[in-house]
Amino acid sequence: MSNTDNIDDTTNLGHQTDAGHTPNSDDWPSWATEPVFIVPPDPAWPATAGQEIDDLLPRLAPFGIHRIEHIGSTSVPGLPAKPIIDLITEIPDFGAIESIAEQLRPYDWHYVPPGLDDRPERRFFIRVRDNKRAVHLQFHLHDSRKAKDQRQFRDILRTNPATKEQYAGLKIQLAHQHATDREAYTHAKSDFVRQALKTIPMRIIFATNNDHKVQEIQAAIGSSLQVVSLRQAGINIDIPEPHDTLEANATEKSSTIHRLTGDNCFSEDTGLEVLALNGEPGVKSARYAGDGRSNQDNIQKLLHELGNNPDRRARFRTVVSLIWQDKEYQFEGVCNGHILQQPAGGSGFGYDPVFVPEGETRSFAQMSLEEKNRYSHRRKAADQLVAFLQKQPKNHD
Ligand code: IMP
Repeated sequence: MSNTDNIDDTTNLGHQTDAGHTPNSDDWPSWATEPVFIVPPDPAWPATAGQEIDDLLPRLAPFGIHRIEHIGSTSVPGLPAKPIIDLITEIPDFGAIESIAEQLRPYDWHYVPPGLDDRPERRFFIRVRDNKRAVHLQFHLHDSRKAKDQRQFRDILRTNPATKEQYAGLKIQLAHQHATDREAYTHAKSDFVRQALKTIPMRIIFATNNDHKVQEIQAAIGSSLQVVSLRQAGINIDIPEPHDTLEANATEKSSTIHRLTGDNCFSEDTGLEVLALNGEPGVKSARYAGDGRSNQDNIQKLLHELGNNPDRRARFRTVVSLIWQDKEYQFEGVCNGHILQQPAGGSGFGYDPVFVPEGETRSFAQMSLEEKNRYSHRRKAADQLVAFLQKQPKNHD
């Protein structure tokens, strides 16, 4: 029986007969043929996975491995699962796998050779504790379809409560039905997984944790593409903005996420450019008055620098960097206007209280979000992004 279609189950070890007996299984340790055992979700699983990853990374760094991800049911908050942490990583080729096995063996990692594992697309390790499987680690080749599918299925479950509920019900039912036949259990689940991967819209990661921005863009794109934040994609990093242009910083953010995930993604970077200040604060808008200073501090510094200069012309500029099918595209949105002598209005954020868009007398901070969006730089860049995305064919292959 081949099990190469299985996405969310990494636990099978070798072929089993319909009666659930593995040939020669008498010689095997009991963890090799553990029954399928589903437990209620444990909120500690992600932290346990984090510890395992922290433990593995220094041991695998000499093999060029710098990223390991938590996948499978224990990586989806609230999902019942076999109490085994599933981890996945990618390598350029499998040449070093025996050396990796050598390196991990002292730490209770067991290498399951491909002949036993029966999944030629990966190399598989099991960490055993108290004579039970505790952690699974899969090695896939870079850009492997199977690795991508597993991450995608995890993200579907993380972001779609209804699909997660259905899947939880199915797992519990199948675990009863196939308690002693791991492979039958796994096969029965794979139809659900395949279907989910087909019917759920393709996703795109927005390199932000601002849920408001995610909702805004999702509403503009419509339902053919699912926009997910960094948090929803399980990415917990601070992306630096070290460059002196909005374009370069936007590229930095999107390419960092693309390097980590291989997925379609986009980022945006915005600045306020004041003509009489030679384009300042520009790329430094968020930290104009210094790191960690407030919006008010930034506004005060801006008003101070401008003094009584009668030339108050300024513009907001947003640059969006999209990486779509491994290629970068940039879109720009500009909103021209001028800087007030004093702040006015209480809504919005950043420099809104001192910025009046062309054709208006009120500051952004005196407008509703809907009114601001008629002029907004971010909205203009997002509209171009959306127009581009709506023209692209969307499928999972
Ligand atoms: P970000 O690229 O969206 O993080 O923007 C950088 C900085 O520019 C923010 O911290 C704000 O101070 C400012 N900024 C960006 N967009 C706006 C806006 O729409 N209104 C006012 N300030 C903004």
